[in-house]
Amino acid sequence: MRTLVKGGCIVNEGRLTDGNIVVEDGDIQAITTLQPEESYDEVVDASGCYVLPGVIDDHVHFREPGLTAKADIDSESRAAAAGGVTSYFDMPNTVPQTTTPEALEEKFQLAAQKSHVNYSFFYGATNDNASSFDLLDASRIPGIKLFMGSSTGNMLVDRMESLERIFSTVKLPLMAHCEDTDIINRNMAEAKRVFGNDPEVQQHYLIRSEEACYASTSLAVRLAKKYGTRLHVAHLTTARELELFGKEPNITAEAVVGHLWFSAEDYARQGTRIKVNPAVKTASDREALRKALTDGHITVVGTDHAPHLLEQKQGGCCRAASGMPMIQFSLVTMLELVDAGVLTLPRLVELMCHAPARLFGVERRGFLRPGYRADLVVVRPHQPWTVTKDTILSKCGWSPMEGHEYQWRVERTLCNGQTVYADGQVNADVLGEEIRFNHAT
Ligand SMILES: [Zn+2]
Repeated sequence: MRTLVKGGCIVNEGRLTDGNIVVEDGDIQAITTLQPEESYDEVVDASGCYVLPGVIDDHVHFREPGLTAKADIDSESRAAAAGGVTSYFDMPNTVPQTTTPEALEEKFQLAAQKSHVNYSFFYGATNDNASSFDLLDASRIPGIKLFMGSSTGNMLVDRMESLERIFSTVKLPLMAHCEDTDIINRNMAEAKRVFGNDPEVQQHYLIRSEEACYASTSLAVRLAKKYGTRLHVAHLTTARELELFGKEPNITAEAVVGHLWFSAEDYARQGTRIKVNPAVKTASDREALRKALTDGHITVVGTDHAPHLLEQKQGGCCRAASGMPMIQFSLVTMLELVDAGVLTLPRLVELMCHAPARLFGVERRGFLRPGYRADLVVVRPHQPWTVTKDTILSKCGWSPMEGHEYQWRVERTLCNGQTVYADGQVNADVLGEEIRFNHAT
């Protein structure tokens, strides 16, 4: 099977080049500016489009097994394909939690049968499972996920001795959700005293406060320095936390699309739809996060795609679930930030494709290079369209981007050389591959 992707502007490794990509048996065989003369089984005309490496989303919650009323691997991997995301790392707060080798194996088997793009799974740390880290096949997982702050799924690790053991034991990248639970509980008690049992969502970012984020993130950074841990802090939300990053290559941070797009001013219009943990913070925090995309403080952009049913989003700070879907619109949203001058197109590709591949040691993906798997996305500018309910592929059936008009369109997504999405349709016959890792030691 030979495919030619011709005539696009290829964005890769800091450069924009007009050229053609030759794909053979799922691999990129050549990238050339010459007009290839041989015949092909399939020719993709990318004239007028940009061709990017498929996005690698380092942070998703596809809710399977156990929470499949909200989302599942089939539905969310379709949404990923439609959004130009060809690889994802799913988080361990499923049911059962991915905190044993058996639970991890079950996820690999599920995904092999139904994931339409490439997949892997974080293993979850608990207060007492650090001894099982050595049982894991490091070539199969991106790393260990640690909740230093409670969120969906009650995976909080809060004992200091447990944290010390995890940070000192783990050899793989340790991805941490950082929010200080004592500070949050104190703020919540005070908010309940003032506003009643379920304070309205406008209080969310004052309860899950800047102070709570900074206390926990700075503790994680301190422990990582003490033990030489490869620490990647998930979803930074505050200007203040950014100061802790950008100095040491082994201590990195992720920003997620929702925090880059929304600010506290949006609670009035969106309500609990944008309630996430950590909370969407102030407009000036968002400005700092956007600036950090180019100044080296943020290394990766993911989504924290975390669907809930709309009925689970009813209520206020206590009752409404935290998390929102985003994977289908992450790339086009970031492309809008390119149009707005927040970052350049090559920088977007660095943050969403190259950096996650490099950081987690992903084998043969994340770059457009001969010999790499042909994961790529064709995007077309100046193609206005509006997000409506019927465009949403996530199982939950809603999006905080509903009503938004995008100027960019994902025209086609190739995963391992196969067209998994084109012209508004997912090709559900396509299945992704298990991602392999080569962790530098
Ligand atoms: Zn998350």
